[in-house]
This record gives sequence, C-alpha cells and structure tokens, in this order.
Amino acid sequence: MSEAKSELELLKEKLFYDRRNAAEVCDAAEIEAADTFCEDYKAFLNTAKTEREAVAYMVEKAERHGFVPFDREKQYQAGEKIYFNNRNKAIVLCVIGKRPLSEGVRLSAAHIDSPRLDLKPNPLYEDGDLALFKTHYYGGIKKYQWACIPLSLHGVVVKKDGTTVKVNIGESADDPQFVVTDLLPHLAGEQMKRTLADGIRGEELNLLIGSRPFSQDEGSEKVKLNILNILFEKYGMTESDFLSAELEAVPAFSARDIGLDRSMIGSYGHDDRVCAYPAAEAIFAISDPEFTAITCLTDKEEIGSEGNTGLNSSYLRFFIADLAKANGENYHTVLRHTQCLSADVNAAFDPTFPEVLDRMNASFLNRGVALTKYTGARGKSGTSDASAEFVGKVRRLLDENGIIWQCGELGKVDVGGGGTVAMFLASLDIDVVDLGVPVLSMHSPFEVVSKLDVYMAYRAFKVFFEEK
Ligand code: MN
Ligand code: MN
Repeated sequence: MSEAKSELELLKEKLFYDRRNAAEVCDAAEIEAADTFCEDYKAFLNTAKTEREAVAYMVEKAERHGFVPFDREKQYQAGEKIYFNNRNKAIVLCVIGKRPLSEGVRLSAAHIDSPRLDLKPNPLYEDGDLALFKTHYYGGIKKYQWACIPLSLHGVVVKKDGTTVKVNIGESADDPQFVVTDLLPHLAGEQMKRTLADGIRGEELNLLIGSRPFSQDEGSEKVKLNILNILFEKYGMTESDFLSAELEAVPAFSARDIGLDRSMIGSYGHDDRVCAYPAAEAIFAISDPEFTAITCLTDKEEIGSEGNTGLNSSYLRFFIADLAKANGENYHTVLRHTQCLSADVNAAFDPTFPEVLDRMNASFLNRGVALTKYTGARGKSGTSDASAEFVGKVRRLLDENGIIWQCGELGKVDVGGGGTVAMFLASLDIDVVDLGVPVLSMHSPFEVVSKLDVYMAYRAFKVFFEEK
C-alpha cells in the first residue's frame, strides 16, 4: 500500500515537467502491441537496407492496401489512395481527405537513405593477389567502424545495352559477404598514433572481393579477371558497366533484439527507417481522413537532401501542386495550410558519453517519441526552429491521445549539431516540427532504438493523420 501523497508531492506533480520511462506508464497490452509492431519493423529492416529496396517494399505494400499510381490529370475523391514513385528512390503515399485541399495537408516526411559505402564509378582492382573494390563513403560516418564487419552489396547496374540488373549479395545464408580489412595491432604502431577520425582513411575503405586467379596460364591481373568473369556469368556485365551502376556496401547482419529484457532493437539503418516505417504504417492504417494525408519517404537526406530524389528538390511540391490543380485549387494555399511532422531520429542520452548532451533537453531511450523544436549547429544555424504555436498544437495532440513523448535536442550548445529535412519543408511555407525516435550509436553500422519509442512514433503519426 502506498501512502497518500503529500501536498508538496501533489504540487510538484502539477507544476514540474516530468519525463518517465514509457514502460512505467504503458499497460501490459500496449507493451505487447509495441513488441508485436517491432517484429514487423525488424522484418522491414532486414528486407529494405537501401533506399531502392525501401521503395520497392513500400510500393508492394501500398498496392496491397489499395494505393494506385498517381495520375497527374485526375481529380481524386475523398478516401482514394495514391502513391508516386520518384525514380525508385523516394515515394509519396497519399490518402485523399474529406476537406478541401486548400485547408492543407497532414504531412509526415522521413528519409530512407542511410550512411554506407558506395562503390566508386571505376572500383575494381587487383593488388597483392587480391581483388578489391574502391569505395566512396556516403553520409556522415566514423570510418573506423566500417572495417572488419561483414558487408553485403546492394544496388543496380545499368549495362551498356540499356538493361538493368539488380544486385543483392550477402544477405542469404549461403551468400558470400565482403569486408574492409584493418591492420593487425602488432604492426599498427604508426596507425594507432592517428586520430580516431583518421584511424581508417577514406581511401583505405577498400572492399575485399576475391583472391583466386582465373587460371594457371601466365598473365597479369588474373584475380581481377576471375571476378569479372564471375560477374559476367551472373549478370552479363563487363568492367565498364560499373560506370553506370549504383552499388552500396551495407552491414550484412540482421536486426536483433538487444538486452536480456529484449526492450531494444539493434540494426543497421534505424536512421531513418525507424521513422519511415511507422510513418508509412500510419498512413496504411487510416481511411477516410478529414485532411488529405501524405507520407513522403525521401532519399539523399544524409548528404544534404540534394539531388532530384532529395527533399531539397521540387518533387514533393510538384506532387502537391498537381493534386491541387486537378481540384482547381491554388497549391500555394495548400502548402501554406499544410502541417508537417518531419520524422527523423535524435541522439539518445548515452551514459557512457554523457558530456556531449544536456540532460535537461536530451532525449532518452524509452521515454517516448522525441519532439525536437530545432536541430542545427552553433547559433541554431541550418534548422527551421519550429514555432511555439505549432509545437503547442502537436504536444496537445500527443497528450490528448495518451502518446508518450519527450523533448529532444541534438547535443550541447556548440558541441556539434546536424540537420533534418524540416528546413526544406519550412521553405515551402509549411508548418513543421521534428518528431522521431531516439537512437544510440547513430550512423554506426549497428544502431540501437527502444521498441516502445518506435511504437509511440507510429501512434503519433496515426493520430496526426486522424485529426478532425
Ligand atoms: Mn536522419
Ligand atoms: Mn542521419
């Protein structure tokens, strides 16, 4: 039996901002729902390790939920479900609402690209009787983390004749895998004097792909020849076809439960599939929304959202403009009344490295989905800094629906920083705030999130779409 709360305790409860572990607040049924949701999330992580694979997964799932390809000339009715596949690397999922578009869209935007090692345009070479691929890293990585772990190769090759082949090697149990080698400690005396940033250098991220010569005949580069011969037999490709390929080396291991209590998930690519998946599931779960709902899963966030599949391009704006035009609406009005949850991860508090985060403002694992008013660096440079009004609206929505949430900030002042797609949406005259899942070891080959936080993100996007 607990004693009655004192007047002081009651007053503190009333006046203090309190963040609690979601597991202390949720009932058993909700915890079970979160664990079940995360089983499907893990399957998605294992199936969709690249932006192309994520789009293919989403197209298939969207069609199963009755979504059809977007027709730019068509006038859509409330309840209709459409999708727009942008070059197989980004996707817009949309459910038409009952209210006129001019009242705005309920938008969530997450990214499906993750840090990785891309093959260089001309990658293949032989040295010391070994065949290797030269790589160029994509996104912000600590390069030393990418040596000595099993890697798989994903992507496409557009061959001389114009045909495209898909590549996916290293995920099946009987597939070979690849690795970036590192020096043995015995001979690493000089290397160990390098800074951590320089421990493995960009030009040292070379992928080991073969070691057997083509034949016993005299000749040079026989290991490279053997690799090319294998690739020719498997894909009909020759060396110059690498020039028109997008091949990405990513961690080959699968998503796993972390902790004896199985409360967390370790995986490659949580940033930002951990928001992309709940945002997509939320739009799949709604029908007949009041406002038109859109989930945009975009590419190229990790390199600044540039390129025509990134959110700094116009593809989302054109989608909304064409939707508005077919309905005889002005798309500027639609954008001006649009509200957006920019769905991206935040840095979770790590007790091993507490010095970089302000405990009062950092997000913690298991304390729910993180509402991040601003990201950026230095004096809030490179962020959209959401308005008090919009943050106020979103927190009310979360509170009213019993969704566990917390505030988040990307590190102590002047320690570093980062950005999300929020600023590109804000530049379209949209009200936007970042809402996402806290992550440990962000941008590493094996990031960690809490299952309850993933589920709270899903619930947050869903109530946002279902708002009356
Ligand atoms: Mn991100
Ligand atoms: Mn990132």
